[in-house]
Order: sequence, then C-alpha cells, then structure tokens
Amino acid sequence: MKRRRKSKRKKEKTCDVKGCDEDKKKSLPSEKVSKKTELTIESSGRKTYLCKEHYKKYKKETKEERTTKRLAWD
Ligand SMILES: [Zn+2]
Repeated sequence: MKRRRKSKRKKEKTCDVKGCDEDKKKSLPSEKVSKKTELTIESSGRKTYLCKEHYKKYKKETKEERTTKRLAWD
C-alpha cells in the first residue's frame, strides 16, 4: 500500500499552507493571507484554507499589525 502525501485533492479540504496536511478550519481570502503573513500558500483559488494552528498564526500576525497601529496613536 502506497501513501502519496503529494496527491492533495481539493475535496480533502486541508490547510493550504505549504507542507501542511492538517484539516482546514477557516477559509480566508488568499490575497489577505499572503500579504499579511509570511506563510507560503499553495492555493490556486481566491480562498485559502487554514488549519487551526495556521489560523492562530494568521490571527497573531494580523493582530500585531493592529497593535502597532494603535500604539502609534498614543
Ligand atoms: Zn496548516
């Protein structure tokens, strides 16, 4: 029995981050994810699916940006 990790079918709906095979938890606009984070996205569509861990990372990175902006106002 062969296990081919590379055959990622669309129906499987896994995380779109390169090298990540976790189940997707959230879908986000691909543009936003690639611009706001340093994650390497393997998504051909306009939506990017992220697993729990990568969504956390996304949230963290976008939050940091907001925090920086808020600090600038003080
Ligand atoms: Zn992931």
